[in-house]
Amino acid sequence: MAKEYYCRNCAMQHNLIFKPPTGKVVGSKKHIEKHKKHTGVNPNEPILGVFLDLSTETYRHLFLDAWENGGVEIGDKGETNLVWAAGEYIGDVHRFSELVGPTEVIKVVLTSDLEKTHAYPVSKSDYNDKTCLDCGRGFVNSLSEY
Ligand SMILES: [Zn+2]
Repeated sequence: MAKEYYCRNCAMQHNLIFKPPTGKVVGSKKHIEKHKKHTGVNPNEPILGVFLDLSTETYRHLFLDAWENGGVEIGDKGETNLVWAAGEYIGDVHRFSELVGPTEVIKVVLTSDLEKTHAYPVSKSDYNDKTCLDCGRGFVNSLSEY
């Protein structure tokens, strides 16, 4: 299916914002694996968002901020992700370990599954042409309003 985008307000009206984790956000095996993946450059990854700050404390802060403020992307497998503009430099995107550019946008994927959900930096340009399916506002503009 094609991806769908909802601004924060419309996402809330559709009950697409699930309850955030109350415990560790880097706790399960999957969390640890993904945190490691997104805190180091890897020449084998065609596209990889890497956090600037490698600490789990900063990761937790960004993760929960995104959960509390982000807009929703429904992915091509029907999964629910949150996307949020942090308003500060949080990481870089690399293509086969070559720097693509800095980013201020964080994506929290698989928010319906607390064992699997994790976050990484993404390029804002991925969202430049996206609009909220409900109200038609620019998705990327709605990201920076919150
Ligand atoms: Zn909307």
